[in-house]
Amino acid sequence: MPLLVATHNAGKLREFRALLAPLELVSALELVPGLTVEETGETFSENALLKARAFAQASGLIALADDSGLEVDALGGAPGVLSARYGGPHLDDQGRCRLLLENLQPFPEPARRSARFRCCLVAWGPDGRHCQAEGTCEGIIAPAPAGEDGFGYDPLFFVPEHRQTMAQLPPSLKNQLSHRGRALRALHPLLLQTFPEFEVASAAGR
Ligand code: IMP
Repeated sequence: MPLLVATHNAGKLREFRALLAPLELVSALELVPGLTVEETGETFSENALLKARAFAQASGLIALADDSGLEVDALGGAPGVLSARYGGPHLDDQGRCRLLLENLQPFPEPARRSARFRCCLVAWGPDGRHCQAEGTCEGIIAPAPAGEDGFGYDPLFFVPEHRQTMAQLPPSLKNQLSHRGRALRALHPLLLQTFPEFEVASAAGR
């Protein structure tokens, strides 16, 4: 039985496949193309749960969903669960980065610009069995964007250990230290514990 990944984002699906191999993953885009779920939760975990449950119920398969975003300490954790919608629907990634820089103008010192990416993953079965895991990645909001790779807030997210922003790091290194990579590695053993049928299927395919 495959695991349904509740995302319409091809990049995320690739990342999930690489980190959960040899599990067989199918995309929500193929199996339930019309289903979208409103992210009305107040936490990453509530939103991931809403998505995983809705996709499991619609498909009859075990579904894996994620919710992620950026928390900036000087802004009380904003943009948080609103990361994708920060500043309103008319802004794109660049506009949201500009807004974030404006809102951080009163805090120019690096020590006041601490932030983290957070990712919550939930796997939910049609029978109600479920498990979840979280991953975080700590950094500092840079004074100006730098780098061409990645997406979202990557050009502003400076990783102190590597002295570069997420958008300057090679994608393989980003996957290694990112919030999503860490959450996926934490989820893998829980997934096999909660849904032993995956362990059997993986062993048969080895
Ligand atoms: P979602 O989990 O796809 O809903 O992502 C929410 C938003 O958080 C994205 O639209 C980005 O703005 C931001 N975000 C999440 N993960 C990352 C990342 O790895 N890099 C940059 N921005 C991210």
